[in-house]
Amino acid sequence: MIADETPVLANSLWTATAPPQPPFPRLSGPVETEVAIVGGGVTGLSAALHLAERGIAAVVLEAQQPGWGASGRNGGQLNPGLKHDPDAVERRFGPDMAARMLALSGNAPALTVDLARRHGIACDAVTSGWIQPAHDAASLATLGARARQWQARGVPLRMLSQQEISTLIGTPVYIGGLLDPRGANVHPLALTQGLAAAAARQGAAIHGGSAVLSIRRDGAGHLLRTADGQVRARRVLICTNAQTDGLIVPLARTLVPVRSVQVATAPLPDALRAAILPGRQAVSDSRRVMVYYRMDAAGRLILGGRGDYSDRVTARLMQNLRRIGRGMFPQLADTPFDHAWGGLVAMTADHYPHLSPHGDGILSATGYNGRGLALGVAMGRVLADWASGTPLAALEFPVTPPRPIPLHALRKPAVRAAVALFRLRDRLGI
Ligand SMILES: Cc1cc2nc3c(=O)[nH]c(=O)nc-3n(C[C@H](O)[C@H](O)[C@H](O)COP(=O)(O)OP(=O)(O)OC[C@H]3O[C@@H](n4cnc5c(N)ncnc54)[C@H](O)[C@@H]3O)c2cc1C
Repeated sequence: MIADETPVLANSLWTATAPPQPPFPRLSGPVETEVAIVGGGVTGLSAALHLAERGIAAVVLEAQQPGWGASGRNGGQLNPGLKHDPDAVERRFGPDMAARMLALSGNAPALTVDLARRHGIACDAVTSGWIQPAHDAASLATLGARARQWQARGVPLRMLSQQEISTLIGTPVYIGGLLDPRGANVHPLALTQGLAAAAARQGAAIHGGSAVLSIRRDGAGHLLRTADGQVRARRVLICTNAQTDGLIVPLARTLVPVRSVQVATAPLPDALRAAILPGRQAVSDSRRVMVYYRMDAAGRLILGGRGDYSDRVTARLMQNLRRIGRGMFPQLADTPFDHAWGGLVAMTADHYPHLSPHGDGILSATGYNGRGLALGVAMGRVLADWASGTPLAALEFPVTPPRPIPLHALRKPAVRAAVALFRLRDRLGI
């Protein structure tokens, strides 16, 4: 179970199966360091590990325990790229910055798998590829354009015929699709806790139960206060994503947190494992309300989707996911779904993540739009680059001022309306 979580979101497969990890201690008393990191998910822990590898002192302050946020609850898909296709990234950011962003995001799964391998993190990492299937001619055309744009940049994406996709996934429901060989998948909590343990071994200080209550300027640096301690640091990295609170104004108003949920079957018998996703690729279905799924190392089918805020609607979404799973794979009719859990993803108005300064010496990386497992690890490295002296303009991702979303207070009804509309359009096929 995920501790300190609402019951409907707490029954996590990952907490039930991650290697045991003793809790990290609370911060107590005053500490001096080079870099203070707020948030112990993949972004903050990757930053800490990359800094520690360079011999730079870092302190991570996590309100709960490392992996308590989305990093320890997600679908475990290491997806390459950004939400936008390469040509759109280039139009918006120009060829030089776009090339850096595409390299960073495209290589993010490989970076993550390599980091896990170098630090001996046992997290069932497999680079088996990422499938984006198509339901209809329009989505197939979108995938074709995506393939051509990456191919033009030297990345060997490959379109799949109806026959190929039905063999790879084990269902006849799709008319074709796209295979991105860079995609990988992992046990996300084992990865996140492994990053924390590796960063600690390399010399970073990691603290659980240490919510940062305030940050204020202090001479040439900053002073961060927790209930029992304080950290004085030259630079501060804010890595709180969808869990962002009022610590740094106006960061929370640049993000729309949305619940995302997962359901997982019991381990499947060998005959079903041979028929459903035998190559263990991750799949993101191209419907407007995305459904994504994959097989884990123990042969459990894990499906995810997103939606609402209330527990009642969340429970209904979980039931929908089970129904979708059994619809695609009728062989699962009698298979129990053992786990159902969820968490928050952080959406942004332009669907890009944002790297934003908050005065001198504070930088945040947030807003992964539900695709931040590999990208968060990569952005953690970018934050570490900045904290170890790389100028803002030379980073692999653009730095933009925090821009609050207009009418942010109306986010909940707006999300509900958008999701309801997309579901209707999916049903009607328009
Ligand atoms: C159900 C679900 C499924 C998902 N599936 C996928 C997937 O398959 N692939 C993918 O790429 N992405 C997926 N995502 C998104 C992905 O998990 C996130 O984008 C990513 O983990 C963000 O990492 P992070 O380190 O930035 O934030 P988080 O992991 O959310 O960590 C932020 C941390 O900050 C801490 N914090 C907040 N405020 C404070 C404070 N004041 N002081 C101290 N600590 C604080 C929180 O406790 C939290 O632990 C999914 C997300 C969810 C919820």
